[in-house]
Parts: sequence; structure tokens; C-alpha cells
Amino acid sequence: MAITYEHIKTCKQTGARLGKVHTPHGTFDTPAFMPVGTLATVKTMSPEELESMGAGMILSNTYHLWLRPGSDIVEEAGGLHKFMNWKGSILTDSGGFQVFSLSDLRKIKEEGVHFRNHISGEKLFLSPEKAMHIQNQLGADIMMAFDECPPYPAEHKYMKDSVERTSRWAERCLSAHQRPHDQGLFGIVQGGEYEDLRKQSARDLTSLDFPGYAIGGLSVGEPKDVMNRVLESTTPLLPTEKPRYLMGVGSPDSLVDGAIRGIDMFDCVLPTRIARNGTCMTSNGRLVVRNAKFARDFGPIDENCDCYTCRNYSKAYIRHLVKANETFGFRLTTYHNLYFLLKLMRQVREAIKEDRLGDFREEFFEQYGFNKPDAKNF
Ligand SMILES: [Zn+2]
Repeated sequence: MAITYEHIKTCKQTGARLGKVHTPHGTFDTPAFMPVGTLATVKTMSPEELESMGAGMILSNTYHLWLRPGSDIVEEAGGLHKFMNWKGSILTDSGGFQVFSLSDLRKIKEEGVHFRNHISGEKLFLSPEKAMHIQNQLGADIMMAFDECPPYPAEHKYMKDSVERTSRWAERCLSAHQRPHDQGLFGIVQGGEYEDLRKQSARDLTSLDFPGYAIGGLSVGEPKDVMNRVLESTTPLLPTEKPRYLMGVGSPDSLVDGAIRGIDMFDCVLPTRIARNGTCMTSNGRLVVRNAKFARDFGPIDENCDCYTCRNYSKAYIRHLVKANETFGFRLTTYHNLYFLLKLMRQVREAIKEDRLGDFREEFFEQYGFNKPDAKNF
């Protein structure tokens, strides 16, 4: 099997899992955060930088690579790893999320989804078979089944039809997958906020025996307590000997709370996207480096951070670069934010090892400011 999960221990205080995921391109420790490289690059970062800050697996987007430069070109280059010179593990999504969120004029049918290219307007069609073919061409270590990700909120009737279609699509994905020996295909549990549908989806998908499972359809605008409730009822339905991936979640509080609910893998564009807007995650909470009050602040973004950015550059300098739209400014904030989340996951793993993730959560939330009544969600 291309992907295997090795369980090391469960935190006695919280039930969080410490483990390792083995892939054809190495092993990474879990719970893990995966930086997102939409177009086969984590914007402004080199692969060497990502490796040096401890990223074991990165994510890339099937939909975007299919349109630009074209999955046949990536295949010709020898696959995504070679094309982008990344030696670690890669996960590609199925393209479904982008089709449902980026394109209008889409028509969902049993055979697949008809929609328009968000760049050229050209008519396109994506199906389970097509999504598998593209992902086989890209050659990531983990690929995702083609699913529908309905918006929040969605009516129960709609969600039930959607979950059932996603299960039928999952079977078609398994049959169409050409490289199970070196690419692990994960199933995606959907069902929105409805416990009965999450159960139905988990039952359908676990019966298909995927090497790993994702929980999709969260972080789509629902309140945090809904996400936590769904996780609490869904993760126990997934096999303990396989990795569990919570899609699209990357705010610091959700990473800790997701780990506590038994999640092993996370991805999100949040740290890199907000970095390009001059917003940083720090041990004392969110910091907007563009703010005028930092014009003469010659201290680092985070005095508790030992990343390249914080060891060498001041808030005043970074503020100046970001305001002047200098690429180097975005590189510095991106480096810091990714380092911050990867370090947070190291701290989470350490805390699981010592059976004190609950205590760590309390300390971290207090210092970050998540316990304040007016706390922002990142
Ligand atoms: Zn830093």
C-alpha cells in the first residue's frame, strides 16, 4: 500500500493521536500541517525553505494545475515532485472544491460536473474518472476522491442526495485509479452539519477500504462549535489504523482543537494568504504589520519566534516592504507564518507525547488571546 499510518500513542489527557504517515516520498510526523502550493509553488517560498522549516508534506491543487500549465505537461516533466523540485510528500485535492467554489454556471449531473473555466470562460467537464486521470498524471503521494462540497448551510434533503452521489463517485474513483501501488487515494466524508448524513457517508466510504480518510465540507462558514461537534461525532467512525485529514482548516485554534478530536492532517491557505496582506500569526495573537504603530518598531514580529524572519528583520522594515509591495516583504511574512504553524504542530506533538495537550491548549489559547470575548478567529 502506498500510504500507511503508524500510531505511536494517544494523549491520555485529550485522546489526540501521535503518529507517522509513511509515503513513497518519505515519512512525516502527525498531527501535521501541510502548506498549500496551489500552482505547484507555495507562494514566494523555495522547496528548500519549506524543508528547512520542517514541512513534510505539501498540498497542490488539481483544478489549477489541470488548467495551467496542464496535467499532461506535469506528467511529461516526470510528475509534480520533479516538476517543482520538491523531495517530500505531496497531496493533491480532486478539483471538486474549486469547481464548486470558483466557477459559476456549473451543472451537477450523475456523470460529473459541467462548468466554465474561471480564467478563459471555456466549457469544461470534470468527473470522478477525469479527476483520477489528472491526479494520476500529477503523481502526488496522496490523491483525493472527487466529491461534492455543498455550501453551508444546505438543506438536509439536498445534503442527503449529495452525500449519496459522493459515495457513488467514490466507488468510480477507486475503479478509475491507475496507480494504487504508489499513490494512495483518500475518501472524503461529507454530510455537512447533519450527524445522520456524516454517519451514512462514513459508513459508505469505510466499506470501500481507502488507505486514508478526509473530513470535508467544514470550514465553509459554519460556527466553530458546529465544526467541533461534527468532528466529535465523525472521527470515531473512521478506522483507527488509517490517517484522518481535516480539509481546509488552518487557524491556530482549529489545529489544536482538531488534533484533540483525533485529526492527523490539516491544510489551509490561511497562513500564506494573510501573509501577503501583511498579517502575521504570533504567540501573542494576530499582528497586522502594516499598522502605523509599527513604523518605528525595530523589534521582531514575534519575540518568542526563532524563525529566519524574526531572527533578522524588524517590524518597521517588514512594514515598509509590505506597504511598498516589495516581494521580499511577502516572503518574510510567509516564512514566519508557516514556521509558526509548523512549530505549533511540533508543540502539539510534544504535548501529546507528554499527555498534556489539554494543558497546552489552555496556555496557548490564553496567550494567543482566543479566550478573549472579542477574539478574532485567527
Ligand atoms: Zn518568526
